[in-house]
Amino acid sequence: MAPEFCPNCGVKVPPKAKACPECGADEQTGWSGAARYDHLDLPNGDFDYDDFVKQEFGGEKPIPRGVHWLWWLVAIALAAGLLLFWWR
Ligand SMILES: [Zn+2]
Repeated sequence: MAPEFCPNCGVKVPPKAKACPECGADEQTGWSGAARYDHLDLPNGDFDYDDFVKQEFGGEKPIPRGVHWLWWLVAIALAAGLLLFWWR
């Protein structure tokens, strides 16, 4: 949903527009996050960065399952290496 005015550059955005005609900001890149600021109460300018990150990135955590899997591989490789070392 496009805001009435682009929060990025302040230009009036056509109601059906998918992106700002002036600066190109759209739901993905620009105004979805910026529009949220309008509804956020920030008492005393208190800014919860962790909360902000959680809202901004949602479920997209920078630590994917692949890392976990990789660490298992490393652990197994280390264990196997130790076993081979002891075997001789
Ligand atoms: Zn704009």
